[in-house]
Amino acid sequence: MKKIAVLGSTGSIGTQTLNVIRENPEKYEVSALSCRSSAPLLAEQIEEFHPACAATGDQETARKLAERFPETRFVWGPQGLAEIAAEAEYDILLNALVGMSGLVPTYNAVSAGRTVALANKETLVAGGELICRTQKKTGARILPVDSEHSAIFQCLKGYEKSQVEKILLTASGGPFRGKTTEELRSVTLAEALDHPRWKMGSKITIDSATLMNKGFEVIEAKWLFDLKPEQIEVVVHPESIVHSMVQYCDGAVMAQLGVPDMAIPISFALEYPHRLRNAQQRLDLKKTGSLTFEEPDVRTFRCLQFAYDALRAGKTYCTALNAANEVAVGAFLGGKIAFCDITDCLDEVMQRHRPSEDADLEELMRVDAQTRKTAESILEV
Ligand code: MG
Repeated sequence: MKKIAVLGSTGSIGTQTLNVIRENPEKYEVSALSCRSSAPLLAEQIEEFHPACAATGDQETARKLAERFPETRFVWGPQGLAEIAAEAEYDILLNALVGMSGLVPTYNAVSAGRTVALANKETLVAGGELICRTQKKTGARILPVDSEHSAIFQCLKGYEKSQVEKILLTASGGPFRGKTTEELRSVTLAEALDHPRWKMGSKITIDSATLMNKGFEVIEAKWLFDLKPEQIEVVVHPESIVHSMVQYCDGAVMAQLGVPDMAIPISFALEYPHRLRNAQQRLDLKKTGSLTFEEPDVRTFRCLQFAYDALRAGKTYCTALNAANEVAVGAFLGGKIAFCDITDCLDEVMQRHRPSEDADLEELMRVDAQTRKTAESILEV
């Protein structure tokens, strides 16, 4: 029986993880759950899975739930998440938190040499260098849950890393694929939230519309698979059937295909190094029709270029890019700025950033906080 701690259990990846656990009660049990603000759903989950520990966004919610569920120990806030990651009993910490809030829990788990199934890509965007440095010391394992990275992980199985020439990271292109910069100026929040292929949380859906999500995935791939930026190529593939590919030194390309369903990468991470039988819909290529591939438009969707630039510049550029993006996307979701303001803000922040070298966790948090202020002043929010 594997014990799974699910951080961000009321979000999109969290609930899909619990679906996988629910279908396999003989294999998995839930040892911890957490939510930021969806307390009613968290209460339902506690009732069903009886975790030993649960975290809420604030102390008052934790207190109320503790009265209702005396068997569960409640913690709250960022400190609560950090504590679960460091001390709770689990075999796998599934980190499905949104944004920078995922960094400390991942860091704590990795510092303790434990196993993390990582759906929170911001962890590696903001702190990839620190996390990998720590992981090398402790021997902790990070299993990717992001569908593209799970695909690459699957395509790498059984091969030597030295034989990899490059990886081909597929991108759906988001809801605005093919639009010009001029057309993007008038897009609405509702249009940006209407992703053609994947049903996801609001932050990542906006990141998909700007292609920042793909940029972050380039950075994530660099750290997960120890690659150079020039070994990571983005290919737009609107059908989202090929989840990513690995090209080897003899020119052979291995791809992982499947219906766009997060149950597959989640199951692969939970059951690694084996595969989990499931009853999900199967890919039927005869009905899929043609699969198409094209070059990404980095002149229009500049966020993707920013990610490569930040990765090449190193130091704390990626940390700053992530912080500014969280502020800008939050402002766009709140109806305070236009879609193109997100990109313009990131551009400005990257130019103003004063990087620091060999940042530890404290320094990364400082850069994050300072960059948020810069982004807020640029956007006047
Ligand atoms: Mg992805």
